[in-house]
Amino acid sequence: MTLAADAETTESAPREVRPIHGAPRGLAPHIATYVFILGPFAALIAAVPLAWGWGLGWVDIALAAVFYTVTILGVTVGFHRYFTHRSFKANRPLRVALAIVGSMALQGPITHWVADHRRHHAFSDRDGDPHSPWAFGTSPVALVKGFWHAHMGWVFDRNLSNAERFAPDLLADPDIVRVHRQFGLWTAVTLLAPAVLGGLITWSWWGAVTAFFWAGLVRVSLLHHVTWSVNSVCHMIGSRPFAARDKSANFWPLAVLSMGESWHNLHHADPTCARHGVRRGQIDISARVIWMLEKLGWATDVRWPTERRLTALEKRRKAVAG
Ligand SMILES: [Zn+2]
Ligand SMILES: [Zn+2]
Repeated sequence: MTLAADAETTESAPREVRPIHGAPRGLAPHIATYVFILGPFAALIAAVPLAWGWGLGWVDIALAAVFYTVTILGVTVGFHRYFTHRSFKANRPLRVALAIVGSMALQGPITHWVADHRRHHAFSDRDGDPHSPWAFGTSPVALVKGFWHAHMGWVFDRNLSNAERFAPDLLADPDIVRVHRQFGLWTAVTLLAPAVLGGLITWSWWGAVTAFFWAGLVRVSLLHHVTWSVNSVCHMIGSRPFAARDKSANFWPLAVLSMGESWHNLHHADPTCARHGVRRGQIDISARVIWMLEKLGWATDVRWPTERRLTALEKRRKAVAG
């Protein structure tokens, strides 16, 4: 794996430099952004007292765990490692499935997600990064403001990243454009499917209501905050064993919940690498899933880390640190 490979997935050579922003978000999707982020978040806050003695059962917990795992893997394996960074090749059914389950994480339509994230790598922790916690300076007040901005404030910016500049490959793929346009449908499915299943399994309306609450709303909000923590916490706190151009860090407490994405320093040091938790004991469930997809023959040309490259990145880091 070479450095040229990194450049290729972050931003192609600037033959004609297009602006970083595309058309602004329309009013209806903008209002929807608030509704679908603050709604689940309100549910998450309400969940804590409600968990005791009211409306939480094993069916809700099992459904929440299954929907959480599948939809966050749609983001980590699909939107992130496959669509943004092309760390492996996928056959068509897998490609479409990853686009759909990633959409069901309710982190925005696929081409917006990929454009934002490629822009993040192209400008990481510098001007132009859509979500750097260092955007306002390094004083305590600036860092509080920066944390909020990197964690969820940036999501409410109506200036969308320009998909024509950052994700032309996705715009050229009719399957992906279709999934992008169906984002409203996948939003409905991800919230209503747990309710339908909860209702059928318990054979009661109440079972549908509690499954909607726990496996729909609460699950989506937890998933949002874990993913956003990679943007906020993992650019502020943690270890930095590998040479990266930014403040990305490895933060172990989030390794399991984030499916390996919190090994974020390695990821920025080597963006196309299919595994982020590369050292002994660094749990990376997404990498394990890619390994299984490779065994099934659905994923090919997986860019697994090589010891030579990892040692070089560690040496370079030590040289910079002096
Ligand atoms: Zn990052
Ligand atoms: Zn990335």
